[in-house]
Amino acid sequence: MYKIIFFIGLLFSFSPFISAEARPVKVLASFTILKDFIENVGGEHVQVDSIVDPNEDPHVYEPTPDTSKKILEADIVFFNGLGFETWMSRLVEGADYKGPLVVATQGITPRLIYDPDLEGADNVVDPHAWNNVLNARVYVQNIRDALVKQDPTHKDIYESNTKAYLKKLDDLEAWIQETLCCVPKEKREIITAHDAFGYYGEAYGIKVLAPVGISTEAEASAWDVAKLVDQIKALKIKVVFVENVSNTKVMQQLSEETGAQIGGTLYSDSLSEPTGPAPTYIKMMHHNTNLIIKAMEKNEL
Ligand SMILES: [Zn+2]
Repeated sequence: MYKIIFFIGLLFSFSPFISAEARPVKVLASFTILKDFIENVGGEHVQVDSIVDPNEDPHVYEPTPDTSKKILEADIVFFNGLGFETWMSRLVEGADYKGPLVVATQGITPRLIYDPDLEGADNVVDPHAWNNVLNARVYVQNIRDALVKQDPTHKDIYESNTKAYLKKLDDLEAWIQETLCCVPKEKREIITAHDAFGYYGEAYGIKVLAPVGISTEAEASAWDVAKLVDQIKALKIKVVFVENVSNTKVMQQLSEETGAQIGGTLYSDSLSEPTGPAPTYIKMMHHNTNLIIKAMEKNEL
């Protein structure tokens, strides 16, 4: 009898170690695109939550007491950086989070643009770096390195998951290049709701115009809209897009004033719900590219 009790006692005394070993790393990502990258790298060894929900706008997100709770429960936190999450430092300081904080864009050369709505207008950093697949590769490798550091036991798995996902990203890049190949240079112009597709445009040779700059916080002035109406007419652009995270009013106005059709919804800064057309980064890039091609084909030469 004594032996049995001793054995049970031994089992209980080891159980915390067993559960700590089996518990996935609790990861918090600032937005859904990052969450998807982390899930692909971490697989079953991570449990990832996103601060900003699908279809929500990360530019204007307001942290709540619930966000502070989430960040304190996380083992590791990832964010985009490049000034995307303007609320991040306030959140980290307010919650007194002391764990690892990983900038997923580390090593990416940022795109500098002119944005009169923001401070330092001449050299504003564009944060939407994920919209170039080659940059997405860098995000994924940064995530791999941070997860290996956080949880070295599963190093081999994180490395092989990363390898497999990078292969998928290479296939995606090849598909985009191949699909875009036949659109004439003169037709490669699109109008998006905010300037979220600059990296995409640079990577794939497309001129991207928008009524507001890199943040949805700014509102288009009457002058911005009038200028864009003139550009749409001069460039013979036939389609304008709405976005999942932006107000559609200005795009409807542009459509009415120029006769350009609304070409559908681009997923720019957040993924869709799981049942929507852009529940993962790869599906989002397919969806956006298909819409963009359809739109550019309608442009007149
Ligand atoms: Zn944006």
